[in-house]
Amino acid sequence: MRIKKGDTVRVITGEYKGVEGEVLKAYPDDNKVIVEKVNFMKKHQRPTQQNQEGGIYEIEAPIDVSNVEFICPKCGESSKTKRKTLKDGSRVRYCSKCEEIV
Ligand SMILES: [Zn+2]
Repeated sequence: MRIKKGDTVRVITGEYKGVEGEVLKAYPDDNKVIVEKVNFMKKHQRPTQQNQEGGIYEIEAPIDVSNVEFICPKCGESSKTKRKTLKDGSRVRYCSKCEEIV
């Protein structure tokens, strides 16, 4: 997947369009990511021993990775990440705009 945990992304479609946030979790198998402050879902909390009241809290729900674009930490532009293999054989990701390894 071209986006990974810790990346900064911008939402490009839907209710949260234009919001930028950090990827809190990536689900490569499902092509989904959880982005900080994006796509809140209300969850009902049943009363527990620790929390007798229970109640409703909000939690970020995963969104499709195609709904976000990568923001390069180096040049600050939205860009595609590309991959290349270095001379030592390691695979790295780099920014398509400034070519910095990210
Ligand atoms: Zn860049």
